[in-house]
Amino acid sequence: MSQNSSRAVGRHFLHIPGPTPLPDRILRAMDTPIIDHRGPELQKLAKRVLEGIKTIFKTSHPVIIYTATGTGAWEAALVNTLSPGDKVLMVETGQFATLWKNMAVKLGLNPEFIPTDWRIGADPAVIEEHLRKDKAHEIKAVCVLHNETATGCLSPIAAIRKAIDAAGHPALFLVDTISSLASTDYRHDEWGVDVTVGGAQKGLMLPPGMSFNALSEKALAASKSSQLTKSFWSWDDMLNMNKIGFFPYTPATQMLHGLATAIDMLHEEGLDNVFARHDRLAEATRRAVRAWGLEIMCRDAKYYSPTVTAVMLPEGHDADAFRNLALDSYNISYGASFGRYAGKYFRIGHLGDINEAMLLGGLSVTEMALALGGIPHKKGGAQAAMDYLVSAAASPSRAAAE
Ligand code: PLP
Repeated sequence: MSQNSSRAVGRHFLHIPGPTPLPDRILRAMDTPIIDHRGPELQKLAKRVLEGIKTIFKTSHPVIIYTATGTGAWEAALVNTLSPGDKVLMVETGQFATLWKNMAVKLGLNPEFIPTDWRIGADPAVIEEHLRKDKAHEIKAVCVLHNETATGCLSPIAAIRKAIDAAGHPALFLVDTISSLASTDYRHDEWGVDVTVGGAQKGLMLPPGMSFNALSEKALAASKSSQLTKSFWSWDDMLNMNKIGFFPYTPATQMLHGLATAIDMLHEEGLDNVFARHDRLAEATRRAVRAWGLEIMCRDAKYYSPTVTAVMLPEGHDADAFRNLALDSYNISYGASFGRYAGKYFRIGHLGDINEAMLLGGLSVTEMALALGGIPHKKGGAQAAMDYLVSAAASPSRAAAE
């Protein structure tokens, strides 16, 4: 505990839904001398990561790597494919969807924003209904977050693709996977996504500061006629330079070293094992929350997020005060709450390089912080998580079906 000391002892428990703690192996991979960004070593590294990252997005098409946070890759996806005044269909799953919508407005686009109560994912049937009404095909893109980090709701991307097709609508399909990529199944090509936006600092276990656009043929064709102003974000210059293993500007070389190692680590574990681990730890977390008698923000199980669980506090209890108390007392950080729910919930991130012991440490001190903070709850959440994780280890298929 750090209560009586100015030094926080031991490792900080970073249980926010990204940035996630870095594996030591990635830290070591980045702890290396700076190389010439126009030399042969960089060229070899760039070719390796530009190919490797395709296996994470599950695409055979180019993936652009930006030296920018996820917000930059959001902008890149819009400015490379669309023109001023274009209508885009977006779903208000929560804070991050709202920020992307606000960006679209600032860029001169015209978003149609499907509302929700922030407690579910994007519903394919509702998207289909909106597209069917758009007989003139004024909507040029459907933009959806795979995982709404602000609420812990996952949207069914393959089903949304089917809904777009069922409506016979030609809109582009743009998907944000910033808090789902490399944590849950995602198939850029198979699911017919035109631009997938990704970020480094979550499932990829890297520091913030790198982001991605995975492309499709249709997105590349759209970029030829797109009229929104772009310079740094332009795919053209990137693709030309990437072909020979370079970037149009100085890339974040240390991040590229880290990315190469992250890709290796994900494949050494096996992507399906990575996804199963996230599912298992997410289910353990939800069982802890239910055992505490607290409410999970995502109100429909079909939208449960494998990477983050938002926990509502009982009426009259301030979630921000609770987060501060937990930080001061047990050196653990949770994700904050947003918008109309500000102060009403906190988020437990369970993504990236995390295992059972790390999760249980986090859940155990969360239970202690609930007690310390006088938050009405039942004991036994950490125990419920342990029971589930033991049953999952003893019989993985039964635990998955439970
Ligand atoms: N989209 C989602 C789903 C996010 O979770 C975030 C950040 O957490 C962003 C976009 C914005 O990314 P960044 O903060 O890296 O710019």
